[in-house]
Amino acid sequence: MTSAFIRSLSRWGAPRLFFLLYPVLVTALLTFGYPIYQQYENNIKDTLLAQEQAHINSSILMFKKEMFERIGDLNLVSGLPILKDYLNTRDANKRQALATYFQQLAETYRRYDQVRLLDIDGREVVRINIVDGQAVQVPANELQDKSDRYYIKEAMQLDAGQLYVSRMDLNVENGRIEQPYKPVIRFAKPVFDGQGENAGLVVMNYMAGGLLEAFRDAMARRHGHHGMLIDSDGYWLSNHDRANEWGADLARPEKRFASLYPDAWPIIANQPEGQLETPLGLFLFREVNPLEFAEIPMPHMQLRQTMGISHISGANNDWKVVIFLPRAQIQAASFLYSPINQLLIGLFFLLLAAVLFLLIQRNVQQRLQRERDHKVQAELVDLYEHAPCGYHSLDDEGRLTRINQTELDWLGYDRAELIGKPFHQLLTEPSVARFRDYFEQFKACGQLDDIDVEVRRRNGDSFHVSISAKAIRNQQGMLITARASSFDISDRVKMAQQLESQARTDLLTGISNRRFFYEQGETELERARRHQSPMALMLLDADHFKRVNDQHGHDAGDAVLKAMAETAKQSLRTSDLLARFGGEEFIVLMPETTLTMAQEAAERLRSLLGRATVSIPSGETLSISVSIGVSMLEPGDKDLDALIKRADNALYQAKAAGRDCVRTVNGGGNMVQQAS
Ligand code: GH3
Ligand code: MG
Ligand code: MG
Repeated sequence: MTSAFIRSLSRWGAPRLFFLLYPVLVTALLTFGYPIYQQYENNIKDTLLAQEQAHINSSILMFKKEMFERIGDLNLVSGLPILKDYLNTRDANKRQALATYFQQLAETYRRYDQVRLLDIDGREVVRINIVDGQAVQVPANELQDKSDRYYIKEAMQLDAGQLYVSRMDLNVENGRIEQPYKPVIRFAKPVFDGQGENAGLVVMNYMAGGLLEAFRDAMARRHGHHGMLIDSDGYWLSNHDRANEWGADLARPEKRFASLYPDAWPIIANQPEGQLETPLGLFLFREVNPLEFAEIPMPHMQLRQTMGISHISGANNDWKVVIFLPRAQIQAASFLYSPINQLLIGLFFLLLAAVLFLLIQRNVQQRLQRERDHKVQAELVDLYEHAPCGYHSLDDEGRLTRINQTELDWLGYDRAELIGKPFHQLLTEPSVARFRDYFEQFKACGQLDDIDVEVRRRNGDSFHVSISAKAIRNQQGMLITARASSFDISDRVKMAQQLESQARTDLLTGISNRRFFYEQGETELERARRHQSPMALMLLDADHFKRVNDQHGHDAGDAVLKAMAETAKQSLRTSDLLARFGGEEFIVLMPETTLTMAQEAAERLRSLLGRATVSIPSGETLSISVSIGVSMLEPGDKDLDALIKRADNALYQAKAAGRDCVRTVNGGGNMVQQAS
């Protein structure tokens, strides 16, 4: 069934088959190739993600270290003995000493834009500003009331021992966002006097610009540059596109993560960490709690409790690092998206198409060729088997190795009955010897043309064939096969036989003619001489035959001649040679016949013919007499004519004696005594 299907396909021709098979092949390749490719692409993605996770880790560590140190600074400053001194005494000199200390601190660290002491009402008591890179003490008359600031309000709420970290925002000076933008985190801690009374607040404005710069720098060194830091509302504290930063401070809600990446935001906002694939690309995100140190692999930082970080501080700094890998960038790392590789893959499929097409074409052509070969072979077999002549092959011993159907049909045998049989077994007796001679000749010369043999059919009939043969020899010149063709020449032989018999027969009487008489007579003469046996000859002539013609017509004469021939034939021995010698004359050669026997035979014949009556065409009946001259073979006879001449003499004498009688003449020309 499958092979029939394939055969029916092959009849379609190469192009159609190609267009059927190529899509199947491509589909199969893609079906098997796609999962493998996907696995490969996932590996690439995993590698990329692992790199990105490392970037995120180091950024988070950086944030935490920075914050840890700033908290350390705050704790240090708020626990200064000089601060306690001042709060206990409220002495102006001590205030100045504290201010000088603050100044030195700001000068040294250069991370704090302002270092301040506020009283319990939120008014500045000491304030150091960084102005043009210099730590400057603000004069008493320029100190401000900061009680309305949100971070002061929030810090004022804290319990003893707790510290406060504000959210990161842009510094506001005199009600306006300071230019260039100055991101600030305020670290604050309530301080207490000797009686344990709340005496105010130490506030240090930490300039976070450097930290963000370091983050951006780290992100910019990454492969895709798209690194972001967002606050809990999804505003950017840092973005690869700087224009998107500080949307909250600038009151630009469109500069929010949720606005730019609406698909991604719900998941990023609600999960502490993860990855997320959108049509735009891949987001990798992780929560940053810069004030949580428990999980940091540095033992000195795992001390959150003792640092007194208030709950609100943590809430203020609930950031997320988000790394975005645009789709194009992931693809760029993948094999399939390189134009060279695309070209290679295109070429591969083209090559595949070409190879497939060539294979199909070769296959189809081979199949067609095979079909053609089969047809030619069948035609050749048919030609061999049913040719209008016989074909057979014989081995070197004359046995049949092949024979075609035509010849089998002639002979009436099945092939199995003949293969392996000697060919001469099919021949008639006289042909066997001739065939053997021919076959020996053939072995020597390698060729036979038109030999005539008589073959016998299974049913016993025989017929003549003309055989031509050619030898196939091996390299040593030995006969391997005799390849023969044979033609049925029965008709030809029959016709030749007819012609031959016509040539020796007298047309009117049907007995032998004069020519055949001479032919055959010489042979008999030869034999008689050889055996020295007696031989007689008689010459017989109708008497007054002219009259028959004259009185009854030529046809009547013919009828009489036929009747005479018939009567003579009946009365003679088969060994006697009877012929019409001419006109109304007949001749008989009688081998093994003595004079007496001859004279008796002549007399018997004369009497028989004389008594015979012949019906002629007119309806009448006639009878005629004959005269017969007899002669005997004599030792001096050179040929038949010598014998005939004497018989003719004898006949003449019979006529002369009045006809209707027999006369014999011997070698001396003398009459021989007539037998009675
Ligand atoms: P005889 O021999 O007795 O002397 O007389 P005849 O009449 O037989 O003599 P002749 O030999 O002169 O005549 C022979 C005749 O036979 C002449 C010819 O017309 C006739 N004849 C010869 N051949 C044929 C033949 O084939 N058919 C017929 N109808 N007549 C023939
Ligand atoms: Mg005559
Ligand atoms: Mg006559």
